[in-house]
Amino acid sequence: MAKTSKFVAIATSKCPKCRRGDVFSGTLYGLNFQETNERCSHCGMKFEVEPGYFYGAMYVSYAFVVGEMLTIGLLTYLITGNDSSPWLYISTILGAIALLTPINYRYSRLFLLHFLTPKIKYYPDYDTDDKLSNI
Ligand SMILES: [Zn+2]
Repeated sequence: MAKTSKFVAIATSKCPKCRRGDVFSGTLYGLNFQETNERCSHCGMKFEVEPGYFYGAMYVSYAFVVGEMLTIGLLTYLITGNDSSPWLYISTILGAIALLTPINYRYSRLFLLHFLTPKIKYYPDYDTDDKLSNI
């Protein structure tokens, strides 16, 4: 059985330990607001590994937003060639950041779980369709 790659696990919002269980409930842009599950439904890993753990995701989200603002500002300049009105840039950047907020929320937490927490490791044995009952 092929194991799930880290890229696929992040793109599909899966648990960093087993890469099977969902980290979030709710859809990205649906009316039911996305929430971080307390535990993985497949392996039982507790996602908030310590109190206040997800405060670290704010720093990741900040880095995402800075990169997005620079990219959107540059694209706005390249597309419009405008160098006189700051309101075009302000409205474009703020509108795009507002639309990207759910994505930043989700992927900053996944980035923190998958890359920035050394004590969370991938267990290939858990990456199976079998139900894990004795963990
Ligand atoms: Zn899991």
